[in-house]
Amino acid sequence: MKNFGYTRHTDRQIDFDATDKRLYQFVFDLEPSINLCIFCGTCAATCSAGHFTTLSFRRISLLLRRGMNDIVKKEIENCMLCGKCQLVCPKGVNTRNVILQIVKGIEKYEL
Ligand code: SF4
Ligand code: SF4
Repeated sequence: MKNFGYTRHTDRQIDFDATDKRLYQFVFDLEPSINLCIFCGTCAATCSAGHFTTLSFRRISLLLRRGMNDIVKKEIENCMLCGKCQLVCPKGVNTRNVILQIVKGIEKYEL
């Protein structure tokens, strides 16, 4: 291929039909409030663990919907289950229970 002095970005499109939705569905069935999340980031702003790690419930919520379960699994390891994010969520998402159900789902599907 001719070198024009630049390269194209690799495709970063997310094919939702091809993603693994098992974990999201499992969490949704047990904690439907996950579906109320509007990804505002209020939870992430208040997260104590987020000051020292990459933890962000907003990102967990997004990645869960995208079926990016490997990263979700890694992210939740930093959560202390303190519940601060739940107190400030404007949509009433039961974030603490969501994280607990993610742990159960990961065990169930051996992710
Ligand atoms: S504060 Fe609530 S609505 Fe906002 S991103 Fe966090 S969980 Fe979602
Ligand atoms: S429960 Fe986890 S995600 Fe929520 S504020 Fe506490 S450490 Fe952060």
